[in-house]
Formats: sequence, C-alpha cells, structure tokens
Amino acid sequence: MIKLYNTMTREKEIFKPIQGNIVKLFVCGPTVYDYSHIGHARTYISFDVIARYLKYNGFTVLYIQNITDLDDKILKRAEELGTSPLELARKYEEEYLNDMAILGVENVNFYARATEHIPEIIKQIETLIKRGYAYETDNGVYFDESKFEDFGKLSNRNLEDLNVHRIELDSSKRNPGDFALWKKRENKAEYEMIWDSPWSTGRPGWHIEDTAITETYFGPQYDIHGGGLDLIFPHHEAEIAQMEAASGKKPMVRYWMHTGFLNVKGEKMSKSLGNFITIHKLLQEYSPEIFRFFVLSTHYRSPIDFSQETLYQSQKGLQRIYKLIQIINEMLEGNTPISLENDQEYVEKLELAQKEFFNAMDNDFNTPSALSSLFELIREVNTDISQSNISINSLNQVKELIIEYGNILGFDFNTTHHNEEGIENDLVNLLKDVREKLREKKEWTLSDDIRSRLIELNIILEDK
Ligand code: AMP
Repeated sequence: MIKLYNTMTREKEIFKPIQGNIVKLFVCGPTVYDYSHIGHARTYISFDVIARYLKYNGFTVLYIQNITDLDDKILKRAEELGTSPLELARKYEEEYLNDMAILGVENVNFYARATEHIPEIIKQIETLIKRGYAYETDNGVYFDESKFEDFGKLSNRNLEDLNVHRIELDSSKRNPGDFALWKKRENKAEYEMIWDSPWSTGRPGWHIEDTAITETYFGPQYDIHGGGLDLIFPHHEAEIAQMEAASGKKPMVRYWMHTGFLNVKGEKMSKSLGNFITIHKLLQEYSPEIFRFFVLSTHYRSPIDFSQETLYQSQKGLQRIYKLIQIINEMLEGNTPISLENDQEYVEKLELAQKEFFNAMDNDFNTPSALSSLFELIREVNTDISQSNISINSLNQVKELIIEYGNILGFDFNTTHHNEEGIENDLVNLLKDVREKLREKKEWTLSDDIRSRLIELNIILEDK
C-alpha cells in the first residue's frame, strides 16, 4: 500500500487512482530557453522514480509533461541571440530531451508543446469567460480571482494576502492578483510569437497552457500533478482556479506532489541567481548514475545541498553496490569455493531486507531509507561472504534482489554491463596501468582526466 504526501491536505494519504489501476500523472516541464540545470534534473529524476515505483506496483502510468515553448524568457533570449524564438525553443527542447535520456529519465509517455495546443487554450479561455470567471481588457483576457472562492487553497494563502503581495501592473484589471489568460500582442517585433484569437492577436499566459493540455488528454480530473516547490504559488494555484472554474468539477487533481530544491550554499539553484551547473557540465565529470544516486540519497521533498563531497559519497556508495555484485558474479562463476550447501536462515534475512526496502518506498517514496536498507543488506552479505557463511542459492537471491532494486530506482546494478568481458576489459586495464604510470610521474592533470573520462563510462577507479 503506497502512501504519498499530498501538498493540498498536508498529509500522507493512501494512494488510490480515480480509475482502476490507471495513474494519470502530469509534471510541469521546462521552459526551453537555455540548457537545463541540475536543479531541474533533481525534480525530473524524482518523478522518474515515482513513476517507476508505481509501475512496479502494477499501475499503468500515463505520464505527460508539457514543454513551455512560448514565454517571455524565450522571446528575450531569441532577441539577444538574433534567432527565431521557435528555433531557439526547439534547440533547447532537444538538449533537454537528450539530457533526460542520458540521466535515464524515461517514463514520460508524451511531451506536449504549448505551441501545439493553442486551439485548446483558446477554447478553455472561452469557457472561463462564458462561465463568468474571466474578462477582457485592452491588454488581454484575465482570470478574475475574486470569483473563485477556493483561490489559495493549495498554498494556504487568502485573497487579501495574495493581492497585497502582488504588484499591480495593469490598471484595467479588476483585482491586482488577476492573472493573464491571453496577452494581446501585435506582430510588431521581429522576436514575437503570436496567434489569432477571438480577442486579438496575441499569445497565452503561462498558467493556461497546462490546464488546456491536461484537459485534452486527461479530462478535468486526474490523479497526480507534480513539480518543484516553487510552482505551488502562483502557478499551481492558478491551474486549480482555471480548471475547476472551467469544468465546475472538484478537485482537479487528487494528489499534489512537490519536490524540494536543489540548493547551492543554502540558496535555490536557478538561472536567475547565476548559481547553476548545467546537466551537460555535470556529466563531463560525473556519471549519470552517480548523480541519480546523489538525488535519491535525499527524500524528494527535502532540500539537497549540492557539493562535490556529497557527489563523492554517492560515487563511493555506488562502488560498494557494484563491487558486491562483481564478487557475487565471480563466486557464482566458481572462482571462489563456497562450502555452505544450505542456509535456510537467509530466506528470513532476505525477507526482512525486502520488507524494509519496500516499506520505505511505500512510505512516500522514501528512497534514502530504501538505500540504507540496501546498504545494511550489503554489509551483512559482505560479512557472511568473508566468513564463508552463505550458499550459492542465497548469493543468487541477493544478486537478483539488488538488481531488482536497481530497476526500481533506475540503476543497472548488474556489473557485467559495467565490466564487459573481453577486449573492453583489457582496454580498461591498459588505461589503468597507463594512469598508474602517470601518477608515479606526478602527471596529475592527465591522470585525473583519464579518471573523469572513465567515470563517464561508469568505470570508477579507486586511488590507492
Ligand atoms: P522551469 O524551467 O524553471 O519552469 O523549471 C522546470 C521544473 O524544474 C519545475 O518543476 C521547477 O520547480 C523545477 N526546478 C527548477 N529549479 C529547481 C531547483 N533548484 N531544484 C529543484 N527543482 C527545480
């Protein structure tokens, strides 16, 4: 039984989809105007594991992410670079998808571009106007916050709070906090993206793209909506208002899930603060597995402070897992004699280990606890191996279990892939020898470079 923390109720709830075992999952995708950074990766790896675990539990997961390919930031960047906004958006969308593929984020069924859903967006705005929740001004079409009683229910703020804290930019709005559904724009600027609409040429506001997309594919009510913590307000609050006002059905979403930030020295990693490391850059030094391990070592709702030291610890953790699988493989191949024929007590030991792992995952996807139960198992198995206190049968089961955990968390723990037999192995050994010689001669830069390049291939060298 999976329990997950619902931001709306601020409680852990038993997970039950609306319709049988089908899970409709929507996670806010990136605004594609630059390379994605590792803060984005943190969020998407977290939801990748959530989707994997739901599937492992027999759910059919329909996972959609939007791609924000129309936005002020895209227009601004396109102008700076002297390129067309759509070309810019396509380039960074491709980079994003490549990054995700390398990071093993592979459970999204459909990436929905905002620019390809303009008719659906217009239709939803028309419905909101018809139902009295939206109005037109000289500048655009706005959602009237005061008409939606529940505004603020996700972020727990009331309307007065909202209005006080919002800057009034358009005096024709009814309430300061009313947000744009459609922005009237003329095709004056070269770097503009506009579409025809019943109101004027222009482009949609940011919030409406998501609800138009989710209504199209999931209908007005679905199971899980996710994103980073920063999206709770105003983005997700606005989404609730739009969808529930347009459909008259509540709630729009059963479970709201939000990831904590990846921070640098206590501050959120973000492009605007300039404290970001792109996924590209990170992968030049660390393997995707090390980063995934780093992400999963913290609970998805807690902040993670990014540091080389923690990445190094992650690398060490992974090494312990690969090493045990390698030892087991060698023992199973008969290279090490095993005296024990039968060890009934291992059945219980493994059952207990599994129980801990799955209890942790069932408890709001607690990956750090799940990993620590895995390390407890590794510690015990290592001791038993050193004391010849384990049978072939149990070794096989331990190996299978660890590989299964790997599949759930998005790792390939079967070291045969990391340590290919034959020529690859010989080449790696050759490189290791060359590197040792370089180190003897204190050629640190070159030897570190070889080490980093091997890490990219998931081969981790331990310096003596
Ligand atoms: P954006 O492209 O900025 O809209 O962000 C895309 C997704 O990444 C959103 O769900 C954000 O909440 C999330 N995100 C952005 N920065 C971070 C960060 N430093 N840590 C975790 N998630 C983040």
